[in-house]
Amino acid sequence: MLYNSAMDIFLKGCDHKYAVEQMLLTLYPDERPVYPEAPGGADRVEISLRRGGKYASAVCRLSREGKNAVGQARFALGRAEKAVDAVRLEQRIVKLAFYRAALALGHDKPVWGSLTGVRPAKFFTNLMERDSLSFAQARRALTSEHGVDPDRAELCARAAEAAISARASLTEKDVCLYIGIPYCPTRCAYCSFVSVDAPKILKTIPAYLAALEREIDAVAAAVRETGRRVISVYMGGGTPTTLSAPQLDRLLGKLRAGFDLSACREFTVEAGRPDTVTEEKMRTLLSHGVDRVSVNPQTMSDAVLEAIGRHHTAARVAEAVETVRKVGGFALNMDLIAGLPGDTPEGFASTLDKVLAFDPENITVHTLALKKGSKFLTEGASLPDGGAVGAMLDTARFRLADGGYRPYYLYRQKFMSGSFENVGWTKPGFENLYNICIMEELCPILAMGAGGSTKLVAPGGIVRRLMAPKYPKEYMERVDDTCASKERICEFFRTLDKKEGF
Ligand code: SF4
Repeated sequence: MLYNSAMDIFLKGCDHKYAVEQMLLTLYPDERPVYPEAPGGADRVEISLRRGGKYASAVCRLSREGKNAVGQARFALGRAEKAVDAVRLEQRIVKLAFYRAALALGHDKPVWGSLTGVRPAKFFTNLMERDSLSFAQARRALTSEHGVDPDRAELCARAAEAAISARASLTEKDVCLYIGIPYCPTRCAYCSFVSVDAPKILKTIPAYLAALEREIDAVAAAVRETGRRVISVYMGGGTPTTLSAPQLDRLLGKLRAGFDLSACREFTVEAGRPDTVTEEKMRTLLSHGVDRVSVNPQTMSDAVLEAIGRHHTAARVAEAVETVRKVGGFALNMDLIAGLPGDTPEGFASTLDKVLAFDPENITVHTLALKKGSKFLTEGASLPDGGAVGAMLDTARFRLADGGYRPYYLYRQKFMSGSFENVGWTKPGFENLYNICIMEELCPILAMGAGGSTKLVAPGGIVRRLMAPKYPKEYMERVDDTCASKERICEFFRTLDKKEGF
């Protein structure tokens, strides 16, 4: 992150630096937080928190570019039965006071209001569960208390609804599996993933798959030993269909031999790059029970495809979709990105129309996020401004809703154009459980492969994370350690089953 200036921060009566910095990043992303000993800088935020008999109150005094404003927020102490609730509510009012001071100073209202987190729907369900609000009250609180715009509150409410329904369908023994294939045929200009494409590195695929098979054995043993039930499998990357049909056949066979998939409700394989889709590969996936694939054009404009370094045309996307449909038996997801270089609201609307004509079961609309490592950041790019990106997302909401799709999961990322959101849309009945589970942290995700992030979830949220080495070379070298770490999965589930605390 490159900062253009600094904001002095003073906290009195609390030490909620993280909450203040999250709000600073949302409101003034170019300003670096500094904590000087004494007031001095012209741009500063002073937040004081006071706990009285009935209320905890936060007051924020914000000074910027010669102007001053005050914002306040409070909560009734009776709402915080446990210490952890008090901390959470304190952080919330600290952010709210800062947010209100910024609006009083003339800051434009962000579409997500005072919300800074990456999972707005989880914020919504927390309002219901931790603050004991009804669904309708939580929805009202989003717009009235937290300043979320009504369209985003609607997205959030629908995603929360899907999360509540998914949670009701899960048992405490359920787990999802993730398998990472960090290889792509070529690298997209906006990519920051640990995906590798150089021909020399692509030659390492067989060795990578051999290491991955060992990790699959270790995770499968942990799942069997602890009596867990696999309900969803997701193979992502990278682009898993960079593998040849025989490689996919062997890998999927290995998964089916290791895990009991009889209770598995869905099996996704990302075929993100249309230039990797062949009939032989699709038939291989189908023969192993894969029932959802994701072909991701990002845009249907050839000029924009070229600008993002995709070495294929929109016509190739149409061919890939035709192949998927010809083989049959798959729900189809298609990813789009709003805010790509050279794109316009009109161009994005045309992309939407073309993708809607393919009639996919899911459409995921991302907003471009500028991440470290992407060419757009290192080499620069001419990107649509926040207003244009907002117009693209408005068009997506209206057209997808008109086309019979509804939002079912969403998340936000740091450094996203206009601080908007990514939204998964679905035709009724085609919600992807894995996406809901990972976004809402509903059940453990057991990840295999380079960069895999296993999330062990207990009631109340994630309590353990296990990370595999990021890069394929490192992953292969350290696969013994990665396999040995699976004992921690067993320990976690044993503790959970004994209902002992963490
Ligand atoms: S297909 Fe995805 S993972 Fe692969 S290079 Fe493009 S953005 Fe990165």
